[in-house]
This record gives sequence, C-alpha cells and structure tokens, in this order.
Amino acid sequence: MCEPRTVMFSGVSGGGEGYLRDTGPVWDEGGSFRLGALGADTRCDVCVVGLGGSGLSAVRAALARGLDVVGVDAGEVASGAAGRNGGFLLAGCAAFHHDAVAALGRERAAALYRLTLAEVEAMARDTPDHVRRVGSLRIADSAEELEDCRSQLAAMRADELDVESYAGPEGDGLLFPHDCVLDPLARCRELARRAVAGGARLYARTKALTVAADEVLTDRGRIACGVVIVAVDGGLEALLPELRALVRTARLQMVATAPTDEVALPRPVYRRYGYEYYQQLPSGRITVGGFRDRAGDGEWTLDASPHAAVQDRLEAYLREVIGVSAPVTHRWAARVGFTRGVLPVFARVRGGVVAIGGYNGTGNVVGSILGREAAAAAVGDAAALSGLFDVTEL
Ligand SMILES: Cc1cc2nc3c(=O)[nH]c(=O)nc-3n(C[C@H](O)[C@H](O)[C@H](O)COP(=O)(O)OP(=O)(O)OC[C@H]3O[C@@H](n4cnc5c(N)ncnc54)[C@H](O)[C@@H]3O)c2cc1C
Repeated sequence: MCEPRTVMFSGVSGGGEGYLRDTGPVWDEGGSFRLGALGADTRCDVCVVGLGGSGLSAVRAALARGLDVVGVDAGEVASGAAGRNGGFLLAGCAAFHHDAVAALGRERAAALYRLTLAEVEAMARDTPDHVRRVGSLRIADSAEELEDCRSQLAAMRADELDVESYAGPEGDGLLFPHDCVLDPLARCRELARRAVAGGARLYARTKALTVAADEVLTDRGRIACGVVIVAVDGGLEALLPELRALVRTARLQMVATAPTDEVALPRPVYRRYGYEYYQQLPSGRITVGGFRDRAGDGEWTLDASPHAAVQDRLEAYLREVIGVSAPVTHRWAARVGFTRGVLPVFARVRGGVVAIGGYNGTGNVVGSILGREAAAAAVGDAAALSGLFDVTEL
C-alpha cells in the first residue's frame, strides 16, 4: 500500500528469531491455477520474466501486438506481491497528489493521476467479478496528518480531481469516490487464463537465472527471444544488480481474521500516511497490513516470511484500533521494491532488456500501466508511451 516517500537506502536486512508460519494470503480461497514448468529450450518474440500483475499486463500487450510470447515465473502466477497484497486499487502514484505535484510538477502529476484513474476504471470493467467499486478512505492519525489531508484536498480540487472531505466512524480525512478494491490473486489468475487462451506460453516454477537482450537462461532451459521484459517488483535488483542504485527491496506483511460483524467497514481505509491499511471483505473478514517502518531495518530484506516484529503490531492494531477480537486466520508477507523518488523503475538495461518494478508499495494500478508501456518500449513503439514515466537507459 502507499507509504511515505522518503526511503533510506542504508541499513541491512534482518533475520533470526521470530518467524511465523505463512498461511498464504487470504485471497487464496476457493480456486487454483497451475501452469506447467518450461520443459525444453524454446524461442519466442517476447519473453516476460515475472507473472504478477505487471508481467501479465505486458504479456497481454505483447499478444495484442500479434507477437509470440513466452512468460516465466519462478513460483506460480501471482505468487509474489501481486497475489499477496492489500487489494487496494487506488488512483495516483505512491505519493499523495500534493506531494506528486511537488516532485513532478502540476501538469505531469495531474496527468499521471488521470492515467491511473482511467486504469482503475479499465481494470474494473475488464474483470468485474474481482473488483468492487467502493471508494477508499485516507484517515488522519494526527492533527498534522489532518492538515496534510487538507493540502491534498486543495491540490486535487485545483486539478479538478474527485475527492471529498470525510468525517465518519473510521475517523477524519478524505474520501476518494472512484477508488476500488480487488481480489488481486483471482484477477491475476484470470489474466493468465486469458493469456494462455490467447496463445501465450506461460510457465511456472521456472526461474530466470540470467537475462540478456536476446536470451533468458532459466533453471529449466534456454529461451531465445527478440526482446525481454523483466516485470519483478520486489527482488528486481537481485536479478538485475545494475538497478541497485535505483530500487531496494522491502518486506510488507499482513494478517486477516475470521469473518466478524464486530465492525462494518464499507470502504478500505489507509492511515498514518498510508503505512497502515485495512479493509473488510464481503465475507466479513478483516485484512490489515502495515508497520514496515516500525520494525527497524530488518524489513529491508529479500526474505518474504512473516515475522513477529510486524505481525505482533498488526494483531495489536486489530484489537486496539480497529476494534476486532476475531481470531487471526491468515498471516503472510511479500517483497516489494522502493525507489528514491515517487516514480517506479522503468529502465532499459543490457542493450535492450526492459525492466519495470519499484512501485513503492502501490503497484496494482501503476504496474498494470507500466506492463503495457514496457511492451511498447520493448518493441520500439515510442508513440504508445504515455511519456509520464522516465525511462532510464543503463
Ligand atoms: C503486503 C502487501 C500489501 C500491498 N498492498 C497493495 C495494495 O493494496 N495496493 C497496491 O496497489 N499495491 C499493493 N502492494 C504492492 C503490490 O502488490 C505490488 O507493487 C505489485 O503487486 C507488484 O506486481 P508485479 O507484477 O510488478 O511484481 P510481483 O508481484 O513481485 O511479481 C513478480 C513475479 O516475478 C517472479 N520472479 C521473481 N524473480 C524471478 C526470476 N528470477 N525468474 C522468474 N520469475 C521471477 C516472482 O515469483 C513474482 O511472481 C502491496 C504489496 C504487499 C507485499
């Protein structure tokens, strides 16, 4: 979910005591989708590494161009953050609009907001069974944050972007009427099914070991290809170490409860500048994530296992702030990439490989856009780029 924008690139990843069993995300209920692994060396026009929401968007865009596409994932479809996130589908980038204006300028920030708003709408129309149009709430945790909400409100109104002041049982803040929530895992599986039906060859349990402009070497075989797109959010710098200066991986953690009627939350809520985020699912379950910043440098890690340093805080938050005593049934974590600024990584490396990721905790919408743009960039179709994301040439 969205978080403050200042990212320190110092510190080391943690480990040691306190790991808890990963139950899998709350989304992993009542459905499955399994692909085979790559069985032999192969060739294609476009190879996409990473089958989360961003990679599947790239696959789809490449298919729409009539290209022969192979996609590989080290795990299963959406087994990374794309299928293990908070399910918020928010317009905007990771920065609140007034902060985006300060960082990018008013015209670009407003254009970016409108682009993401259109993407939220397109995603809701594309997979209506997996998206709910409920709006979202930013709730202030302090007088200072309420003042920040006012600045955000003023900046959005100045750019004629829909937002309302909000005061209700959740607290005081802002209401964004066009935001949505989604079942991120079900949506990705749906996209993968459609891609396979459309002719893409997608492989699970197939890890890219090395990536070059015309070849991906995996632990299951070689893929010779015209172009390569790497769509990996958390762990991007592990696969492409030249991106280390641009992106750094952190762990985000969540819990979910058994269904409960102790509270009624019609909309997803994010608080404390987006550090904490929770929602109630139609089943009555409460999901909550957050506290990455309160657990120290140990959360800057490639490890994706739930840890008590954050899990205990999430459980206390459920009880003390959200007011829910229902038992915790799910605990999970995943990796995401953070950049130095408000924009994600959109880079061309190794003489042609296009790499995307680093969504600063909010990749469901921007990743969907950037997957499409990565496909355009990979085939040299500059006219299809929005021009709102900087392409770094390395
Ligand atoms: C707990 C949590 C809550 C979040 N909440 C929200 C939210 O509410 N809203 C929102 O917009 N965003 C949220 N995010 C962020 C969002 O989930 C991510 O930014 C987004 O899903 C990234 O999608 P992706 O497809 O780019 O990358 P990923 O989901 O990271 O997918 C990359 C895929 O690449 C695969 N892979 C990695 N290395 C290799 C390799 N060497 N070879 C082959 N495959 C490889 C992985 O297995 C993975 O499946 C959250 C993230 C977390 C962890």
